[in-house]
Amino acid sequence: MIAGEFEFFAPPTLADALRLLHEHGSGCKLLAGGMTLVPVMTLGLAQPGAVVSLNHLQGLDGIEDIGHALRLGAMTRHATVGQHPLVLQHAPLLAAAARGIGDVQVRHRGTLGGSLAHAEPAADYLCATATLGARYLLQKQGSERWLGAAEFFVDVMTTALEPDELLTAVEIPKQAAGAGYSHLSLRRVEGAFPIVLASAQIAPGYAQARVGLGGVGPRPVVLDVGDVVQGGLTPAALDALGARAYDAAQQALSDLNGSGDYRREMARVYARRALAAAAAQLPTGGR
Ligand SMILES: Cc1cc2nc3c(=O)[nH]c(=O)nc-3n(C[C@H](O)[C@H](O)[C@H](O)COP(=O)(O)OP(=O)(O)OC[C@H]3O[C@@H](n4cnc5c(N)ncnc54)[C@H](O)[C@@H]3O)c2cc1C
Repeated sequence: MIAGEFEFFAPPTLADALRLLHEHGSGCKLLAGGMTLVPVMTLGLAQPGAVVSLNHLQGLDGIEDIGHALRLGAMTRHATVGQHPLVLQHAPLLAAAARGIGDVQVRHRGTLGGSLAHAEPAADYLCATATLGARYLLQKQGSERWLGAAEFFVDVMTTALEPDELLTAVEIPKQAAGAGYSHLSLRRVEGAFPIVLASAQIAPGYAQARVGLGGVGPRPVVLDVGDVVQGGLTPAALDALGARAYDAAQQALSDLNGSGDYRREMARVYARRALAAAAAQLPTGGR
């Protein structure tokens, strides 16, 4: 049960939502899928004076091809991201990440924007969108700004969003033709929250290779590793990649799911596995 009283708003337009945010500021919480916000309010960990639901807004849940990239509205549900033909064709890594989130109920209620704004370090979308070089659109009354992952994700469950700002869209560059990708996660059981994640994308001929890691520090970590795999995915190259992932996980935090040491070791293991899985999709099969 949610103990505290709060005002509830369900604005029909983005302009109305931005006005309400402007009026209520930090005393206000946005309700997207409610998968995180409702439990947090039930436990009394957040007691907003006002809740603004985004569920009746028109136009925040579309997926659009804008040429070089896809633009996904913040209210796009995980189930849609995981199955949409444009995402499957141009950002299959993101689709794979979405399909692995939670269970069927979570995937049908939870939203892209809600997950990114909540910024749990081991969430699937943080690792996947950072790896893909996403840009995030933050809007408030009278202005908007685009940020990359390095600016948007600030700390554990902390983003660059101001109290009167809304995350409205995410832009994902299209995957190059013939590229390989993977999104792997370590979980206690199927459907549980990830402990460590690794996403990888690799261009044909190993011209470019990128590995992203989640759950190994307060923010997602992205490594450009094209130099490491120039000569192919040899055992020495994989060892070098693993060492780089281990070093990049120095800020890994300890919690009930695993110690910082364990997460660092898993960063090494999962970075190697993710890049090998991505390379296996190349025409040469990673050789
Ligand atoms: C049982 C369970 C299993 C789960 N498993 C996984 C998993 O395996 N992997 C994973 O990544 N996640 C998992 N999740 C989290 C899930 O992905 C949630 O959907 C997500 O964390 C929150 O999204 P939401 O749309 O429900 O947001 P809400 O709960 O509605 O909101 C979360 C926070 O973000 C803010 N917010 C929401 N939308 C916006 C916006 N557009 N702009 C600014 N602020 C906004 C809200 O005010 C609130 O503070 C799981 C959740 C549950 C309950």
